Amino acid sequence: MNFGKKIWVIGNSSEKSQKTVTALKKLLKVEHFIFDDINPEIVVSVGGDGTLLRAMHMYESQLDRVRFLGVHTGHLGFYTDFTDHELFEVVQALKNENFREAVHYPLVKVKVSFDDGYQIVRHVLNESTIRRASKTMLGDVQISGELFERFRGDGLSISTPTGSTAYNKSIGGAVMHPRVEAMQIAEIASLNNRVYRTLGSPMIVAKKDTITVIPAAEDDYSLTFDQLSFEYKNIKTIEYSMDGATIAFANCAHTPFWERVKTSFIGEVE
Ligand code: NAP
Ligand code: MN
Repeated sequence: MNFGKKIWVIGNSSEKSQKTVTALKKLLKVEHFIFDDINPEIVVSVGGDGTLLRAMHMYESQLDRVRFLGVHTGHLGFYTDFTDHELFEVVQALKNENFREAVHYPLVKVKVSFDDGYQIVRHVLNESTIRRASKTMLGDVQISGELFERFRGDGLSISTPTGSTAYNKSIGGAVMHPRVEAMQIAEIASLNNRVYRTLGSPMIVAKKDTITVIPAAEDDYSLTFDQLSFEYKNIKTIEYSMDGATIAFANCAHTPFWERVKTSFIGEVE
């Protein structure tokens, strides 16, 4: 039932996205959807994967309730299921969807603790990275409380399964199917010589485990949460875990994951 379904549509700054948002809103109005940006049940993102990431963070505090749907205005993305030529299909899918049939993808929870006890908790859909603002980063990496290695290098990336095809892939991480509920830790230019030693390969860490990074004191670090980036001082620890939080996508004709990977990175095989 779509009568009274609360919806919000988010675009990006491109002309194509803006035009598509206007056209889609017109169709949704005819179908009696209610536009609500405060408490929407469904959020439609019109643009690329980056637009969907921004939409997710706008509604980060309501992820247990909101369903997302991505419309791509460029190439097929990992979080976008429809093209801007399929707006009638989008409206049909939105009319027919219900929360029980949503497809859920796991998120990674990031908890940053500071020396004074202050904490920041965020969830990421792609990845969270830590780098030192200047010079080489030094930090201890623990897995479920046990010291695993002392890292020296540019930084570390901790990604979700769906984030595995994003930054993680560029730094040599493995592509993971989103049904594998685990986090991946990948190194960014680690130093390895007779003095410094890290594993040197990406690791898939089980959902039950926690990854903790304890960066060397008295430094500035830059942390990213998907497309968002911040500089912090006085970080004590950063904990990465999977607490069961997910992003829900409105049920629709999902392109199989490995087909998306092939379309995005390989193309036609002769
Ligand atoms: P951006 O710099 O505009 O996007 C970087 C590219 O990554 C875009 O082509 C984007 O697709 C694509 N992308 C985003 N999520 C993806 C996913 N899950 N799988 C495959 N490709 C994905 O930044 P943005 O659009 O705001 O996205 C932020 C994300 O970009 C970050 O979370 C990070 O993963 C990624 N990133 C990658 C690199 C790199 O590979 N060297 C560097 C910086 C950031 P669209 O064009 O559809 O948006
Ligand atoms: Mn982008």
